[in-house]
Amino acid sequence: MTHKKETLLAHGGNQQGYHEKYTGAVNPPIYVSSTYHQQELHEFGPYDYSRSGNPTRDQLEATIAKLENGIAGFAFSSGMAAISSAFMLLETGDHIVISKDVYGGTFRFVTKLLAQFSIDHTFVDMTNIIEVEEAIQPNTKVIYIETPANPLLQITDIRAVVSLAKENDCFTYLDNTFMTPLYQQPLDLGVDIVLHSATKFLSGHSDIVAGLAVTKSEELAGRLKFVQNTYGAILGAKDCYQLLQGMKTLEPRFQKSASSAEKIASNLTELEGIEHVYYPGLKNHPGADIHASQSTSAGAVLSFTLHEQIDPEQFVSNMTIPVFAVSLGAVESILSHPATMSHAAMPPHEREARGISDRLFRLSVGVEDVNDLLADITNSLKASVKESISK
Ligand SMILES: *Cc1c(COP(=O)(O)O)cnc(C)c1O
Repeated sequence: MTHKKETLLAHGGNQQGYHEKYTGAVNPPIYVSSTYHQQELHEFGPYDYSRSGNPTRDQLEATIAKLENGIAGFAFSSGMAAISSAFMLLETGDHIVISKDVYGGTFRFVTKLLAQFSIDHTFVDMTNIIEVEEAIQPNTKVIYIETPANPLLQITDIRAVVSLAKENDCFTYLDNTFMTPLYQQPLDLGVDIVLHSATKFLSGHSDIVAGLAVTKSEELAGRLKFVQNTYGAILGAKDCYQLLQGMKTLEPRFQKSASSAEKIASNLTELEGIEHVYYPGLKNHPGADIHASQSTSAGAVLSFTLHEQIDPEQFVSNMTIPVFAVSLGAVESILSHPATMSHAAMPPHEREARGISDRLFRLSVGVEDVNDLLADITNSLKASVKESISK
C-alpha cells in the first residue's frame, strides 16, 4: 500500500530500515559524531566520517528523495550551498540559461562567482519560451528555473522548458522553495535536479538555515554525492534533526497558510490603498493556468504594490502582526520589502527593469487567524495615507 506524502511526513520520514531499532524512539537519534570506530583493519562499517555520511542526515536525505519522487537527496548547510554545489557540476567554458527573476543570492552566485571560473550565463524572461530557446548556445549545459519566481510570482512553464532542454541536450535545475515537494514535483515533469532552501517552508519555524538537492538520475546522484563530500557544505546532524521535525507539520502549515494567502490576495485586490496584487491563485495573474497545470497549490506567498497615496514607511510601522524581515515560509507571517532586502544585491536599474519598485511588498502568510491578518493590513493602510493627500 502506498501512502500519501503527508502520511510519510507526519512520521518524520520513518520508513523501513530507518526506524530506531533499539528503543523504539519515535524521533530519530541525533548522531553527534564526526568519526566512526572501525572494527578491523580491513573491515569498513557503513559510516567513516560525517562529511561523507551521517545516519541522521541519511534519514533526512532519504525523506526528501522520497517526497520529490527522486532516487537520492542531499542536505546542505544552506539553500545557497545546495544551489552552488549543483552548479559545481559545470566546467570552465560552459554556459547557463537562467531566469532573470531568480533569487537574489543565486543572481549574485552566477554573476560574481561562476563568472570567475569562466562559466557564462544569459538571463532570460523564462515566461517567454522563445526567449529561452534563442538564448541556448552549443555550450549551454543548464537551464535554471525558479517557479513561482521571487518576488513577483512569475510562472515558468516547466514542461515547455524541460522539452527545450532535452532537445538541446542540457540539464534543467529548478528551485522548488516556494511550492515544496507536496505541491509541485518537478522531477516527474522531467527536471534533472530540484533545489530547496529548506530554511523556508520545509523547516517552517524561522529557526535553521538549510538546503536540499534531489535527483532521479543515477549519474547525477553520483556526481552530486562527490561534490557534497568534496566541497563539503553539509548540514550538521542537529540541524538535520530539526529540519525533519519541522517537516512533520509541513502539510497542515502550508494548507492553512495557502488558504489564508488566497483570501488575503483576493481581498487586497478590492482595497483602495493597493495598486496591484501578485498571486498565482488570482485568475488574472499571468501564467495562472500554467501554474495550475503543474502545481496543486497557489502557495502562501503574495506580493503587492502600495498605491502612491500610501506612505511605505508608515505602512510598515503600522503593521502589528507580521515580522518585518527577510525570509519566508514560517508559522509567523513575514512582511518583506524586496527592493531593500532580497534584491538589494541587484543594481537599481536591474531591479527597476524587473518591476521591483520601492512600493512593492511581499507577504509570506503564516498560520495566524486570517481575519486578524486582513484587519491588520486594512488598518495599517488607513493609518498610512499620506498627509498631503488626506487633507
Ligand atoms: C531563501 C532562498 C534561497 C536561498 O536559501 P538560503 O537557505 O537562504 O541559503 C534560494 N531560493 C529561494 C527561492 C529562496 O527563497
